[in-house]
Amino acid sequence: MIRRPALSSRLAPFGTTIFTEMTRLAEEHGAVNLAQGFPDFDGPEFAREAAVEAIRGGLGQYARMAGLPDLVRALSLKYERDYGLFYDPMAEITVTSGATETLFAAIHGITEPGDEIVLFEPYYDSYRASVAMAGAVPRFVALEAPDFRFGEGALLEACSEKTRAILVNSPHNPTGRVFSREELEAIARVAEERDLYVITDEVYEHLVYEGRHIPFATLPGMRERTILISSFGKTFSLTGWKIGWACAPPALSAAVRAAHQFVTFATATPLQKGAAVALSTGPAFYEGLTREYRERRDFLVGALREIGFDVTAPEGTYFACARFGAFGFDDDVAFARHLVSKIGVAVIPPSVFYEHTEKGKGYVRFAFCKKRETLERGIDRLRSLTRI
Ligand code: PMP
Ligand code: GLN
Repeated sequence: MIRRPALSSRLAPFGTTIFTEMTRLAEEHGAVNLAQGFPDFDGPEFAREAAVEAIRGGLGQYARMAGLPDLVRALSLKYERDYGLFYDPMAEITVTSGATETLFAAIHGITEPGDEIVLFEPYYDSYRASVAMAGAVPRFVALEAPDFRFGEGALLEACSEKTRAILVNSPHNPTGRVFSREELEAIARVAEERDLYVITDEVYEHLVYEGRHIPFATLPGMRERTILISSFGKTFSLTGWKIGWACAPPALSAAVRAAHQFVTFATATPLQKGAAVALSTGPAFYEGLTREYRERRDFLVGALREIGFDVTAPEGTYFACARFGAFGFDDDVAFARHLVSKIGVAVIPPSVFYEHTEKGKGYVRFAFCKKRETLERGIDRLRSLTRI
């Protein structure tokens, strides 16, 4: 009989991700799934056709380790066209299996065991687990409700002699915040003063509803210390393709590749080909995407307010956070459980994205990357909530 636990102590605290858990509960209860952030509609046909053609055309073997040449070239052109940010396609862009892998590879590529990484809380859940798997130590800066802003003083305080990097996510999951230029400049000052690397998670770069996305690497002096991470899945509504990438100067790219080569080595070749074709589309595609998501956002936020939620329209992403005190609950997990089992709508309880879980207890996260009819069905069900 085996008497030792199978699971390592590094991973034991994390359990099963909330996304898997809530989607399972949604299926079990026949609930409308406004929890896990994946579209319930398909991505553009031209991208899917390009991938099918690549499969038919025999692109069935391993791709170049750091990314299919067609894709890294398309990415290089995209960053130059969209933001005036030039990355050498071969030396400075690395394709991975989703931004989740990029984040893992970036953290593992640049940290020694015991190094500290500064995270803003609430944080996307894989950060905390990747930091733990690397044997690094997280430090936290709170984005304080209700406006989810941080002070430069708090950021400085979170940094020590051991700090290696700050991980910045803007547009931010789960709050929907888009950091202002002033906030990004504050991060840049701290990075410069303490000589830190900055890992930026910009997977929602094309879902910004007010103004335009500012890649952190475009701030003066920041390109050389930034690993810019983004993903194909959000922008092209094809989350299942799992294609992500890192753009960074050669030494930082080499660090990301050093890990990536032993995690997946290379990413699915025909899907990279499809992504290359998709990423070659012009700005009109992104404008259409933002317009459609703005409509979904406005519909959801307006309807949630009518029902009695206290909700601010998110500046970016496809998530809206709503306070639910009007319904007599004061705990996000209890309220999420009530919604999925009694009302028939699945949401995410955000306290799981906090080290200090009490800070996330007062609101839940709705995903609006869903068809209008799905959102309407969810809203109809939420109307049966009773106010106190
Ligand atoms: N970062 C954030 C903030 C996310 O919300 C997600 C969601 N999927 C990811 C990274 C992971 O992206 P991917 O699906 O490309 O791994
Ligand atoms: N990023 C998605 C979300 O926040 C989920 C990704 C996943 O399930 N791993 O809902």
